[in-house]
Amino acid sequence: MYNYIIIGGGIVGLATAYALTKAHPESSILILEKESEPASHQTGRNSGVIHSGVYYKPGSKKAELTTRGRDRMMKFCQQFGIIYEQCGKVIVATDEKELHYLDTLAERGKKNGLKVRKISKDELNEIEPHVNGIAALQVPEAGIVNYKEVSETLVDLLKHSGLDILFEQYVTSITSGETKCKVKTSKSTFESGYVINCAGLHSDILATKAGAKLQHRIIPFRGEYYELVKERRDLVKNLIYPVPNPSFPFLGVHFTRMIDGSIHAGPNAVFSFKREGYSKFSFNLSDTWKSLSFPGFWKLVGQHWEEGFSELYRSLSKAEFVKSLQKLIPEVRSEDLIPSPSGVRAQALNPDGTLVDDFLIKYNGRSIHVCNAPSPAATASLEIGDKIAEYVLNQTSKDIAAI
Ligand SMILES: Cc1cc2nc3c(=O)[nH]c(=O)nc-3n(C[C@H](O)[C@H](O)[C@H](O)COP(=O)(O)OP(=O)(O)OC[C@H]3O[C@@H](n4cnc5c(N)ncnc54)[C@H](O)[C@@H]3O)c2cc1C
Repeated sequence: MYNYIIIGGGIVGLATAYALTKAHPESSILILEKESEPASHQTGRNSGVIHSGVYYKPGSKKAELTTRGRDRMMKFCQQFGIIYEQCGKVIVATDEKELHYLDTLAERGKKNGLKVRKISKDELNEIEPHVNGIAALQVPEAGIVNYKEVSETLVDLLKHSGLDILFEQYVTSITSGETKCKVKTSKSTFESGYVINCAGLHSDILATKAGAKLQHRIIPFRGEYYELVKERRDLVKNLIYPVPNPSFPFLGVHFTRMIDGSIHAGPNAVFSFKREGYSKFSFNLSDTWKSLSFPGFWKLVGQHWEEGFSELYRSLSKAEFVKSLQKLIPEVRSEDLIPSPSGVRAQALNPDGTLVDDFLIKYNGRSIHVCNAPSPAATASLEIGDKIAEYVLNQTSKDIAAI
């Protein structure tokens, strides 16, 4: 019998365990992960950016937890010797029509406490000599890190503080009772006072199994990347983003310097026929049915079919992908780019076809479900963990008071 069982060994599950060990050191905690190592899905397959918080609506959970989480993440890296860099980024307008939204982002950034600065074409070219833009925002707070390394450090710290982590344990059911929860896996059954579901791409399936009434469904969106060949890495100094489409939660294909020195270009955002489907041909009947049978999916398609088709076309045509990148760096050529591993985002979708914009955590008695933690949840993970720990500890003290 554990105090807490956490499902998922991605960065959100690990950060939640870390927060609980700090806030409730005498508690017993078990993490159950279905893969053989931590960070095998979203956490280990992302862009590695420590986001600044410039994009998010002031007052939203994303704005609050990302701006605080960014500083926490950098301090955590300093404390435990993880290589990171606060290299800053530029968001580049390549068309007059984008200038208005660039100003909106500048306003948001300032409201979120950032030192954003609108810069001219000449200033932009001093920072990124190969970029073609008419104006840009410089965001000095953004950084880069390898989140797999952060996760591995968290695992070491957690093991050191006596927490149990079991790999290759696929959770098949959660029963949430009045005084305790029962979690069944492919291998065994465990009991705990609370269950915290941080299962990313599978979080809605597990939440429903635990009896939570959900309105949303997780829709998987694959993000595909190319990588610049070594000889062309000098085209990019740090992080170069386009002005995003304000009606979409994705940032548009961009250039990212990774902490190992490689330069990634992407990710796009294509509907995936498999929740953990990393190739263009990945398919899973049950996952596909879960998406296609959700009315919100068809409303999303109705509202955004043009963007959907152009993302699909760009996924199938390297020439089209390169064309998008050339808007930012005209010198980049098809032969400069080689394919790089993709990731799949767990994005919650509402029944009315709108994408859930903010982080969403559902507190349901003894089971807690992280329902929407897409980008920038890796950046915000230490703060998301604290939020969950705060709730659980409040409940735990009510339990103790009742005894
Ligand atoms: C392409 C891409 C680029 C991104 N770029 C960035 C970025 O630059 N910066 C940033 O901050 N964020 C970024 N993100 C978002 C970030 O990666 C995620 O928000 C974050 O990793 C979510 O962590 P998680 O722990 O919730 O999910 P995950 O990392 O997916 O972890 C969930 C874990 O649960 C396990 N699991 C699932 N079902 C079960 C089950 N039944 N039993 C046991 N275990 C189970 C899975 O195996 C997995 O290990 C990006 C995401 C993607 C996909």
